[in-house]
Amino acid sequence: MTDGHPDLAGYREGLAAGELRAQRCAGCAKTFWPPRPACPRCRCPDTSWVRLPDTGELFTWTVVAHTRLAGFQDAVPYPVGMIALPGAGIRMIGRIDAPAPELRIGMPVRWTFADSPGGGRRPVWSPAGPEESR
Ligand SMILES: [Zn+2]
Repeated sequence: MTDGHPDLAGYREGLAAGELRAQRCAGCAKTFWPPRPACPRCRCPDTSWVRLPDTGELFTWTVVAHTRLAGFQDAVPYPVGMIALPGAGIRMIGRIDAPAPELRIGMPVRWTFADSPGGGRRPVWSPAGPEESR
């Protein structure tokens, strides 16, 4: 399981505290994802974990129709998206909890915890903001 990877320790600690987190470089202040032992911009190894915004924008998405991921075979088809977090300057890939026909590029999304077909509670993204009140 990739969950046991030491580079993800700060991410997992964030989830336990109800936060999405990514690394920030102490040298150049760049926030980056996925986790690395050093900053991808300046190679500084001095990094810390910072809270990411709870909302982002759907940068792009696709529908997973076939998978070999354990536990997910019965969940297909399901949308997966790349979420842009403008406040942090990064993009993350995540499962989307909404029917594919309702998705639009650029729509605001917010993460929450949901039961994962693969087991446990994992972050998923759902439509958020003005889209919900229409
Ligand atoms: Zn840096």
